[in-house]
Amino acid sequence: MDFGIGGKWALVCGASKGLGFGCAQALAREGVNVLIVARGLEALQAAAEKIEADPLRPSAASVHLVAADITSVEGREAVFAKRRDFDIVVTNAGGPPPGDFRDWDRADWIKAVDANMLTPIELIRATVDAMAARGYGRIINITSSAVKAPIDILGLSNGARSGLTGFVAGVSRSKLAAQGVTINNLLPGAFDTDRLKAVMSGASKKSGLNIEAVIDARKKTIPAQRFGTAEEFGAICAFLCSQQAGYVNGQNVLADGGAYPGAF
Ligand code: NAD
Repeated sequence: MDFGIGGKWALVCGASKGLGFGCAQALAREGVNVLIVARGLEALQAAAEKIEADPLRPSAASVHLVAADITSVEGREAVFAKRRDFDIVVTNAGGPPPGDFRDWDRADWIKAVDANMLTPIELIRATVDAMAARGYGRIINITSSAVKAPIDILGLSNGARSGLTGFVAGVSRSKLAAQGVTINNLLPGAFDTDRLKAVMSGASKKSGLNIEAVIDARKKTIPAQRFGTAEEFGAICAFLCSQQAGYVNGQNVLADGGAYPGAF
C-alpha cells in the first residue's frame, strides 16, 4: 500500500534508538524526509547512518539530525532553527524512572510533567497551525499502555502522560480536525528496547528476582508471549501518518500484544 506521504517532512523526537528510531525508519521507508532528534550526537549520527543505509528507504527521502534535549526550550529552538514546517511530528522523550512514589519530590514530578506532558504540548503548539494552513498534518505522541492500565512502579509516567492524554482528547477535536490535522497517541505495551531493559532491571531490584526471571514472567503475562519490536511499532506510526489514516483522530492506539485485558 502506498501511504501517500512521500516527500513530506517529519520531526521524530527521541529517535537515536528504540521506538523513536523505529518510527523514523518506517517513515523514511515511506519516502518521508526525517529530522531526527536525541541528546547524544554520536548515537544520533549512528542512527542517521542506519536509516540512510536501509535498502528499503527510497533515495529521495533525506535524513537530518539535531542533537538536542527536546524537553528544554533551547533544544526545541535548535530544532526549529533547522526547520519549522513539518507535516508529521512524532513526540517522544525518555520515560521517567520507575520507583516508589514516596521517594519522589516536587522536582521529580516537574521533570516528568515537563518531559512527558508539556514538551509534546509545546511541539504541537509550534507546528499544528502551519499544518492546518497547508491542509495536512499528523501528530503522533508516543505515550504508554500505562495510560490505560497504570503500572505501580511507573507512577511518574502514569501521572504525566494522563495529563497529555486529556489535552490531546480536546485539541484533536478542535477545528484542526476539519483542516486535515490528526492528533493521535500511540501506546506501547512491552517493546524490546533499552527503556524496557531499565524497567525490568528496576522490577528485578524491587522483587529480588534475577532479571531473566523477571523478563520471563513479564512475557508470560502477554497473550503474544513476547515483547514487540521497534520495527513493528514504527510501521503502526507510519500508517497513522498516512493519507489513509486521515479519519483516525483523537485516538489512543494500543500496541501491546493483547496485554490490556479490556474489550474496549
Ligand atoms: P529508549 O530509552 O530505548 O529510547 C529513548 C530515545 O529517546 C533515545 O533515542 C534517547 O536518546 C531519546 N531521548 C531521551 N530523552 C530525550 C530528550 N530529553 N531529548 C531528546 N531525546 C531524548 O526508550 P523507548 O523504549 O524507545 O521508549 C520511548 C518512549 O516510550 C519512552 O517515553 C518510554 O517511556 C515509552 N514506553 C516504552 C515502552 C517499552 O516497552 N519500550 C513501554 C511503554 C512506554
